[in-house]
Amino acid sequence: MKGTRIILMGPPGGGKGTQAKLLQDKYGIVQLSTGDMLRAAVAAGTPVGKEAKAIMEAGGLVSDDIIIRMIADRIAQPDCGKGFILDGFPRTVPQAEALDKLLGGSAMKIDAVIEVRVPDAMLVERITGRFSCAKCGAGYHDSFHKPKKEGVCDDCGSTEFTRRKDDNAETVKSRLEAYHAQTAPLLPYYEKQGLLRVIDGTAPIADVTRQLEKALAG
Ligand code: AMP
Repeated sequence: MKGTRIILMGPPGGGKGTQAKLLQDKYGIVQLSTGDMLRAAVAAGTPVGKEAKAIMEAGGLVSDDIIIRMIADRIAQPDCGKGFILDGFPRTVPQAEALDKLLGGSAMKIDAVIEVRVPDAMLVERITGRFSCAKCGAGYHDSFHKPKKEGVCDDCGSTEFTRRKDDNAETVKSRLEAYHAQTAPLLPYYEKQGLLRVIDGTAPIADVTRQLEKALAG
């Protein structure tokens, strides 16, 4: 695989997290999910978590300042040296500009931006049915991807699962609005730089992975 610094773009529920985890396991490049980082901050009750909690529950976007600081700290850590997959970041033009500055300062660059494209009509069902293993984070879905043995995680055997608080029909609407208004403008931003590849996110998970690997190899 050519690219080692990758941005996964796409709407909430589009499968970015699922694909990022698969790439992480296969190629050993770390998944950087700002959503996961924020959820950890909320759970730990840090100042960032306290500020982000209500915004996340309403489906809005957390301030660029907080997000940029968080990602700058994370990218500076040694495990990012081999590369990283950005999942859920950047989400606004100022975040993308800050990322360019950040990478430029350390003589790094983005190798590819992949848009996982899924129409809005499919996303509500995808999001409201999803849950994950409370222990290892493996993702599942009530209709599309159940654990092989009911109530038991395929990957680690745990019997505890969680659902995200913001994965409800009402919040999904706000999250989609935020995506179209603030994040979708990043697609032309990266297209102009010749970095953007589009893949069909409506296909089954393994097909999407194949498309993704093909896009990264080309
Ligand atoms: P996600 O897990 O990527 O769906 O993110 C969950 C929530 O965290 C979003 O709905 C936002 O409230 C917040 N969030 C995550 N990443 C960002 C970001 N890059 N910029 C602003 N808010 C974010």
